[in-house]
Amino acid sequence: MGLFDIFKPKKKQKKAACSICKSIMNQEDGFALSTAEVIASKRYWDHKMVEPDTLSYTTSHFKNQDQTATNMRKIIFEKTAEKEAIWMTCESCIEHFDVNLDETKELASQWWQLGPDFKWKKGAAKNQLSEEEFEEIKSYATMEAGSAYVKV
Ligand SMILES: [Zn+2]
Repeated sequence: MGLFDIFKPKKKQKKAACSICKSIMNQEDGFALSTAEVIASKRYWDHKMVEPDTLSYTTSHFKNQDQTATNMRKIIFEKTAEKEAIWMTCESCIEHFDVNLDETKELASQWWQLGPDFKWKKGAAKNQLSEEEFEEIKSYATMEAGSAYVKV
């Protein structure tokens, strides 16, 4: 045993990045969401479509009715909806979602224990939303999301 080993914490704390804003969370922090819960939130899309890497598409979509930009917004939606892994979100990002906080917190705690083996609600969003729900939110994300942030 080296001299400095006594200063090391007994158990190594796990850390994870928020799936949405990438901020680092400590073990037991955060909330677990399925892809369906994430993509069903209009607030999520209002934020997502005005991030630095999506804002130019959103601006062109609303200001110039640019068909390519509109199509890129649709592709961003589709790629997000295909994600199969659990989303772990931080305290501020969870505010974009109308979900039962106690439940997602409990699921987050299981996620910290099981990591990638945690299969709860795993699967692309299409498997969990009805076709109608899916098409409605897809249309919102593609055509309307972020409009309040872009002065037309
Ligand atoms: Zn976050």
